[in-house]
Amino acid sequence: MLTIGLDADDTLWHNESLYWLTQEKFRQLLAPYHSAEWIDQRLYETELRNLEHFGYGIKGFALSMIETAIDLTEGRVGAGEIGEILGYAKTMLQAPVDLLPGVEEVVQQLASDHQLMLITKGDLFDQESKVARSGLGDYFAKVEIVREKDPSAYRTILQRHGIAPQHFLMVGNSMRSDILPVLSLGGLAAYIPYHITWQHEAAAPPEPTTAGFFHLDAIDQLPALVQVLSGQVSQNPTP
Ligand SMILES: [Mg+2]
Repeated sequence: MLTIGLDADDTLWHNESLYWLTQEKFRQLLAPYHSAEWIDQRLYETELRNLEHFGYGIKGFALSMIETAIDLTEGRVGAGEIGEILGYAKTMLQAPVDLLPGVEEVVQQLASDHQLMLITKGDLFDQESKVARSGLGDYFAKVEIVREKDPSAYRTILQRHGIAPQHFLMVGNSMRSDILPVLSLGGLAAYIPYHITWQHEAAAPPEPTTAGFFHLDAIDQLPALVQVLSGQVSQNPTP
């Protein structure tokens, strides 16, 4: 039996677009001080530096915006502007969960024959809230919210649930977090790009001929792939 892991942000619902909209507001706020390019670059550097302190997610992003605003204004940023940034974060946290086209139908269809796992990283509170608000929670046998989606995190999840990597298909929009670590464990991975990728999640794709790697244009192509892979898995049961 094939277990299907699904990424959440930008695979099931829009997410990165929300960050981009917020970053545009942040650029406007700091426009009197610096160019958009410099603001973007400094914010990105601050976010990366802060990952080890705050992890992924909106709250960490908000703190990184505040830190960048303080740095780029050499401490002149006012309480009113800090308040604006906090307002951006609250708006993001309350934004409706906007499913990508076809997601509900595909998830419902796959859940009837397969064990589905939602595997996401980031802020526990925010991610659990989004899963609940998405209306998709009941289709997933398991929801795993991890700090980082690297080979050891996937290995731990697969071992905990007794799943052989060759019977596991991960589906997601991030080469770095959804695809490469799963292929490195001998699992299957289907890449479905989203129209915006955060720089940090970008990575060179594997060779197109890499065993177990599939590139889909949209999630509505997933059921056909799952059908083919399920046939192969049932011919090669767990060793
Ligand atoms: Mg994603």
